[in-house]
Amino acid sequence: MGIELDKEYYKKERKADWRDKLRKEIKSKERTKGVRVQMPEADPTIRNKSNIEVNKGLTLEMAMSESSRCLDCSVPTCITGCPVGTNIPKFVKYIEKGDILGAAKVLKENNSLPAICGRVCPQEIQCEAECIYVKKLSKEGSAIGYLERFAADYERESGNSSIPELSKFNGIKMAVIGSGPAGLTVAGELAKFGYDVTVFEALHDLGGVLKYGIPEFRLPKDIVDFEINTIKQMGVKFITNFIVGKTATIDDLKEEGYKAFFIASGAGLPNFMNIPGENFNGIQSANEFLTRVNLMNGSDANFDTPVHTGKNVVIVGGGNTAMDSVRTAKRMGAERAIIVYRRSQEEMPARTEEIKHAIEEGIEFMNLTSPIEYFADAKGMVNKMRTQKMQLGEPDASGRRRPEVIEGSEHDIDVDSVVIAVGVSPNPIIQQSMPELETTKWNTIEVDDNMMTSVPGLFAGGDIVRGGATVILAMGDGRNAAKGMHNYIEKTILSEV
Ligand code: FAD
Ligand code: SF4
Repeated sequence: MGIELDKEYYKKERKADWRDKLRKEIKSKERTKGVRVQMPEADPTIRNKSNIEVNKGLTLEMAMSESSRCLDCSVPTCITGCPVGTNIPKFVKYIEKGDILGAAKVLKENNSLPAICGRVCPQEIQCEAECIYVKKLSKEGSAIGYLERFAADYERESGNSSIPELSKFNGIKMAVIGSGPAGLTVAGELAKFGYDVTVFEALHDLGGVLKYGIPEFRLPKDIVDFEINTIKQMGVKFITNFIVGKTATIDDLKEEGYKAFFIASGAGLPNFMNIPGENFNGIQSANEFLTRVNLMNGSDANFDTPVHTGKNVVIVGGGNTAMDSVRTAKRMGAERAIIVYRRSQEEMPARTEEIKHAIEEGIEFMNLTSPIEYFADAKGMVNKMRTQKMQLGEPDASGRRRPEVIEGSEHDIDVDSVVIAVGVSPNPIIQQSMPELETTKWNTIEVDDNMMTSVPGLFAGGDIVRGGATVILAMGDGRNAAKGMHNYIEKTILSEV
């Protein structure tokens, strides 16, 4: 994606001799010896029994000090590391000057959910990985995510949160399917263009994975609700308990006057390993486990449908979903909450910070281990998992070293419940209701550069196009699709008016 730099800012804020200035700055011990700020965290022995947020956020003093570490590079490579092209040096400079509301405004130019991204983006492989401290000076990068979260939280808590400027309302009906980060972003962007936007959501609550997947201790729900309320204030309508493809088809919605559609239905279908015994009671997908805990009070034994965990809980997988599940199981009282992962910690796809937090909270890791069979008691409840040890071979298509079986290394573990977190696939409901929609062999939806599918007027983005990806990539798709949809309407409808 091309990044547009704010030229006016660079002309105004930078001196003509910026190259010399930069060289001096890089050499300056004062500047480069600065140590990256540490995020204050809740005590691990207390937080692993509660839902309090783990990261407490920076103070104003900490944020201003961290922002002064930024070297104000001539070519700010951090921007290229952000999938939505956030103008990082500009917002960081505002924090350094103490104008936090100004910083929040800059963030909102490209990102409608900065308080969320500041918390969950894998910054260490995105913007922060491209920081000059990391690339040239072998030091810890600027804490861009922490600063983003600080500015967004400051704005929200100050009560001065701004609603983006909207174009004149044009009354043209646009439908968005799914209220995760992709759907929320496209809805906000279309509202800015002046459209009459409705979001259809299958569940009873809004936010997609931000609500039903990522737990409260990592992303408080009131923060997601605040962002959704801003989009509501922009005039976007939300209809819950509405499954497009079942409650009504896209053709039905066309008859109701919707002129273009954005499918943002995510990848909520869990994958399993298809090994013997995987159907025993007490074995569930991470998707079911987290949804029941996050949206249906499943961790409360007094509710109608409590989730079964027990003393020994094993989570199979090494991604964010596995980390969220294992830390949730620990908070529900598991004595042993164990990650079983077939590669080593180095290859884990989970965010580095989540792995660190999990270790601090007493999570056990059985890496280079893979389940091969489950056993159950007379009632069909799982009680044992057979595993085998793995070793790493040559890199596979994903670039990570391929796990290979060590023959004769079988080992049994006592388990009371098992959560499977080995990846997700797109939910096929919409694809099945529209045979003309072109899909890939993984059942993701094919789109062109404007995010339009094989059906004119029907756009798609986020996990339904990418498979399981990230919040910010889903949001980037939403931004691109909104432009594509606007162009489509201009060509097909507005040109005829
Ligand atoms: P989703 O967020 O999945 O939203 C899709 C929405 O569409 C859902 O609300 C669903 O109910 C609705 N829907 C589905 N079908 C229909 C239909 N037919 N009609 C109407 N509505 C429908 N990414 C990160 O960047 N950082 C993280 O830390 C991180 N942690 C994660 C933790 C977990 C547990 C999980 C599961 C994912 C995590 N991810 C993380 C990935 C990230 O959340 C997803 O990539 C992102 O949410 C995808 O956004 P989306 O809008 O495409 O889909
Ligand atoms: Fe970094 Fe994510 Fe913020 Fe972009 S949105 S600057 S990648 S934290």
